[in-house]
Amino acid sequence: MQLFISDLHLLDSRPNVTQAFLRFLDTTAQNAESLYILGDFFDVWVGDDNGVEEYAEITQALADYSAQGHNVFLMHGNRDFTVGDDFAKQANVTMIPDPHVIEINAEPTLLMHGDSLCTADVEYMEFRKMVRDPQWQQAMLQKPLAERKALGQHIRATSDSKNSLKAANIMDVTPEEVIRVMTEASTLRLIHGHTHRPARHPLEINDQTAERIVLGDWHNKGWYLIADEKGLNLESFDI
Ligand code: MN
Repeated sequence: MQLFISDLHLLDSRPNVTQAFLRFLDTTAQNAESLYILGDFFDVWVGDDNGVEEYAEITQALADYSAQGHNVFLMHGNRDFTVGDDFAKQANVTMIPDPHVIEINAEPTLLMHGDSLCTADVEYMEFRKMVRDPQWQQAMLQKPLAERKALGQHIRATSDSKNSLKAANIMDVTPEEVIRVMTEASTLRLIHGHTHRPARHPLEINDQTAERIVLGDWHNKGWYLIADEKGLNLESFDI
């Protein structure tokens, strides 16, 4: 069985979400061979030197879960794009690129965080290009911790306030971009998060039936997609 989650936005000030995730590892996720975390696992990340310590409980829980024989795969989101090799090593998770193709029941499936699909948000796409540049990241991670924390807060604050003013269609995925990336990857199934609009959308690609599955964020509810031999199910529980 494979499990898919995203957008937990783990943060000190939301300990109930951390607790919900720890319970999830001990219950639902016990039956999973693989757990895929598709970005924005952390609400903000300013470097492994700070994060591994600040999120020691989560890091240890993931390491313990891996030691029980489960595989954990982690993709960057638009908030935690600087999660690095030190965290991956300590938590014993495998970083996967965005986009990434896996097989579910022998069907190729495209995994993404989802922010790159929101191409109508021109301003964000420019920002994304900047912060996903390895040179920008390297320079950022060399700054003193206090400066990085201030930058992290700034990114959070501006993304929240700007996003609340943007039209709903700009904040959602661009349908043509979805078709384009799925065609390029030769997949008829896409799983992503980011938009916080959990749903299963039937699609048609080159006269073939396809599907886009959107994972939900963890706020009042926790969302996960479960895939086993019986099929795929998008589920939620109260937090
Ligand atoms: Mn996101």
